[in-house]
Amino acid sequence: MDAASVATVETHCPYCALQCGMGLRPAAGTGEGASGSVLEVVERTAFPVNRGALCGKGRTAPELLAPGARLTTPLVRDHTTGELVPAGWATALDRVAEGLRRTGARYGRDAVGVFGGGGLTNEKAYALGKFARVVLGTSQIDYNGRFCMSSAAAAQHRAFGLDRGLPFPLADVARTGCVLLVGSNLAETMPPALRYLTELKENGGRLIVVDPRRTRTAEQADLHLAPRPGTDLALALGLLHLVVAEGRTDEEFIAARTSGWPAARAAAMAHWPEQVERITGIPVPQLREAVRLFCDAPASMVLTARGPEQQAKGTDTVGAWINLCLATGRAGRPLSGYGALTGQGNGQGGREHGQKADQLPGYRRLDDPAARRHVAAVWGVEPETLPGPGRSAYELLDALGGEVRALLLMGSNPVVSAPRAAHVEERIRALDFLAVADVVRSETAELADVVLPVAQWAEETGTTTNLEGRVLLRRRAVAPPPGVRTDLEVLGGLARRLGHAKGFPADPEQVFEELRRASAGGPADYSGISYARIAAEDGVFWPCPAGSGASEAAQGASGAVAGASEAVAGAQTASGGPAGPGAHPGTPRLFLDRFATPDGRARFVPVTHRPADEETDAGYPVVLTTGRVLAQYQSGAQTRRVAALNAAAPGPFVELHPRLADRLGIADGEPVAVVSRRGRAVAPARVSAAIRPDTVFMPFHWPGEGRANTLTNPALDPVSGMPEFKVCAVRIERLDGPA
Ligand code: SF4
Repeated sequence: MDAASVATVETHCPYCALQCGMGLRPAAGTGEGASGSVLEVVERTAFPVNRGALCGKGRTAPELLAPGARLTTPLVRDHTTGELVPAGWATALDRVAEGLRRTGARYGRDAVGVFGGGGLTNEKAYALGKFARVVLGTSQIDYNGRFCMSSAAAAQHRAFGLDRGLPFPLADVARTGCVLLVGSNLAETMPPALRYLTELKENGGRLIVVDPRRTRTAEQADLHLAPRPGTDLALALGLLHLVVAEGRTDEEFIAARTSGWPAARAAAMAHWPEQVERITGIPVPQLREAVRLFCDAPASMVLTARGPEQQAKGTDTVGAWINLCLATGRAGRPLSGYGALTGQGNGQGGREHGQKADQLPGYRRLDDPAARRHVAAVWGVEPETLPGPGRSAYELLDALGGEVRALLLMGSNPVVSAPRAAHVEERIRALDFLAVADVVRSETAELADVVLPVAQWAEETGTTTNLEGRVLLRRRAVAPPPGVRTDLEVLGGLARRLGHAKGFPADPEQVFEELRRASAGGPADYSGISYARIAAEDGVFWPCPAGSGASEAAQGASGAVAGASEAVAGAQTASGGPAGPGAHPGTPRLFLDRFATPDGRARFVPVTHRPADEETDAGYPVVLTTGRVLAQYQSGAQTRRVAALNAAAPGPFVELHPRLADRLGIADGEPVAVVSRRGRAVAPARVSAAIRPDTVFMPFHWPGEGRANTLTNPALDPVSGMPEFKVCAVRIERLDGPA
């Protein structure tokens, strides 16, 4: 690597949606860091989101750049020996192009699938969606971000007419009066964000945490509610019932800014507190205390994460929390509102620019004729040539080897991260052809016919959109090692081989310029954002239309937009240059004057509780919930290759309550089997009073016998297509016989 040629570069972490700012510079001394990496991380205190703080994953991220940790040559399957063997790029790309072309010719275009990732930059997500629809002509494209927060996206869209993870900057969290945090363990998933909750409390605010485990985040709470997994919907309805019963609704707000309240109110009133206590396990006095804290505060927020979202009723569950905000007037007002804490690094941008089965760039709908016309014109094709919506992520994976016979996979490792993972692995093995573009030789890459080694975060420039809707510039700090190409170069090489000589440039800024045009006028309008503006302003919040937007932006946003306007003063115009005086300042805060619905009103959606798709019974008497640990990220494909992270979190475990452990005769540290209707996983027991006695917890970052997703239920939310990762029925077995 060309370490000598790089200076300190301001960029962002490769992992989660906080997208912490960091600096990268050549490691001191010999040019190599202690870990063997050639770059070292320096604090970037001026970046407003994390102000220099990083978790261990971010601090050790340069280790991923070391040659030993990653792929540096294409691999192709030798069908005589069955082994993956090194090959040249021309051979590898020829083989991928031929595999995709042959399958499409034989079985039809929809027999070719594309699977992307929530970690891909906006440019890559955009190019991948365009490649699928224009070059392959397939409708079968989706991505692992579907498993991340599609339920929150669907619920926000249903209620507000627009989905942006947080409709306000994270800094507002520290200044509100009460935060109701549902199913999020920020202390482990994005530790630098925890300080906003600490500052909230220092400012006199209150924190309510809803989580079946007493996590490190829950320990900070004024009130910790620990519902049975899968019952958050009942909990939200019970709280809304009490809000009504205790006269805590904001009738003026409801009348002026919402629609649909009578039906939502009636649905909530059918959920009596005592009934909710029976369903959730949360005593009525705690429900009343939660209502008191939430409503007594001058401003309040509900923030959700994977807990309520990764359920087969995730959209309705999030909808119920939104209803609580709307009924109490805690939405569309300064320092109040509902927000979703996105998980993956570009979980937000990744779902805005076309790698989702039903979307076109700019968060346009693929089934909207006007959207098809607009994007087709940018792409230089006829609208009728664009395929329609395809299958959602799990449905697509489930169709592999059946109706979908070839797959191009970029930035994802579904063998570990998909629900019912053993079945998904079986479907992947049944494919006629699999090509994987990845940084490392992941468990899914091991099954491929061709593996393409691609560049990673610090080796290429691109934009991501963090959980606040802030579009950021991840700058290249070092050249990729020889033998490695970027994902954009891969797509360009394949497109040329498949008859599209133009339209897939390798330069990310050129792709972004096209993305801007494609997104113009859409809900996620990036047309006023340029690399130069992002650099000058430390990020720009969408929507940010090109040109005359100052007045539009001021509509619906208050002080923050004023602040943004000041920030852009003197910066450059959006069309590649400095932002001039008339440039749109971006939109840090949404919905302050109106919601993004046709009538400007937020929509209550009546929802009712129903049980999890799979309830416990005599054969499977315990609830399994899955999640994350501090030192690992997603399928662990990257973090399991970093020594310090592996040392901190070397493998899976099964967390269970001492009472359950006693009943089953299980000792702390003893290996146990967890068995669901879909399979069996083995991991050491971790006995802890921090979890409900009727629930066990497993993190999902590891393959092999401890793969938690072998167990999880692929039952899908009918609106979002989200699988029910967070709740399924299991039994625990001692390895020396059934417990
Ligand atoms: Fe990276 Fe997220 Fe850790 Fe920040 S919190 S350093 S973005 S993994």
